[in-house]
Amino acid sequence: MSRVFVLGNATLDCIQTIPRLPAPGETLLADSLLRCPGGKGLNQAVACARTGAATVLVAPLGRDADAAVLAAAAAAEPGLAARWMESAAPTDYSAIWVAAGGENMIVSSAAAARGLAEADAIAALDDLRAGDILLLQGNLTREVTMAAARLGRERGARTALNTAPIAWDMAEALALFDIVIANAVEAAQVTGADARSAAAALAPGRIAIVTLGRDGAVMARDGVLTPVAAPRVKAVDTAGAGDVFVGVFVGALCRGAAPDRAIRAATAAAAIAVTRPGTVPSFPSSIELAPLLA
Ligand code: ADP
Repeated sequence: MSRVFVLGNATLDCIQTIPRLPAPGETLLADSLLRCPGGKGLNQAVACARTGAATVLVAPLGRDADAAVLAAAAAAEPGLAARWMESAAPTDYSAIWVAAGGENMIVSSAAAARGLAEADAIAALDDLRAGDILLLQGNLTREVTMAAARLGRERGARTALNTAPIAWDMAEALALFDIVIANAVEAAQVTGADARSAAAALAPGRIAIVTLGRDGAVMARDGVLTPVAAPRVKAVDTAGAGDVFVGVFVGALCRGAAPDRAIRAATAAAAIAVTRPGTVPSFPSSIELAPLLA
């Protein structure tokens, strides 16, 4: 059976809802605080596992109390096998502000993610095989990410890159990936083009998707551009929406869905997540995802 290997980070998210985003130097009182598991690696692995795709998460974790919260969250997901890489750094942490209307600002600490050694990451991917999908993001170092992608290529796995966050020059890494998913800001940064042209610019030789927030997403593949509208919903918190999109898209592909079908499922799944607060707590359940994938 094909599997999805997600090599990435795991964080404890502290999400404060605030009336509006603060100005520099300003102090605001938050309306609410939610602490929950997060990080692009963990988020995408959870969303992917909930599609029914057998999913392996490889992620660094500190030796502290926060680590236990993340390990317990992953252990509670049927279909998700976590391979934690012990880190001397504290467990990574994201400070997330969500303003009324869903607009957000996020700052992630990444000492554990960026401390992951290439040899350890490669060893943890030892059973990656042809037919599997290897999914990566921007939180690990360029060296680890590129080494893992090269391993994926050697093994005959499909390689997927979510360009968030852009912490290093991703343009040079693109050649190692069969699937690239970027949001509009990242797509513009990587290609220098506007979002729709960026999808076409990223696409030669691969599937390229640019996500467009409430406007859905556009996929470029084999010279064809496929726009997909997002369902109209009342967004309360868009943090993690991109991760649901990526995880569900890749999970659906692993389960044999055609890319057109997978992107529709991803768009519908992300629209569910934005109507609820939090990152992982907002993600659609496997029961909610089943009809989207049928
Ligand atoms: P990111 O969260 O990575 O910045 P986007 O903002 O493009 O990425 O959102 C990712 C996906 O989440 C979009 O392609 C869309 O499918 C969905 N989404 C985001 N915001 C909304 C919204 N307000 N209404 C419906 N779907 C949304």
